[in-house]
Amino acid sequence: MLLQCQRCGYQWDYKGNADWYTSCPRCRTSVKVQRRKEKKPQE
Ligand SMILES: [Zn+2]
Repeated sequence: MLLQCQRCGYQWDYKGNADWYTSCPRCRTSVKVQRRKEKKPQE
């Protein structure tokens, strides 16, 4: 999935399996992993 660092703006294709956070390969800050789930939020 494509992630974007909120700190430096770097984008990369994340292929790891962390559930919530990973580290930006450029600046090493914590970046949220936003997994797309099949469940849709209730409206
Ligand atoms: Zn970054």
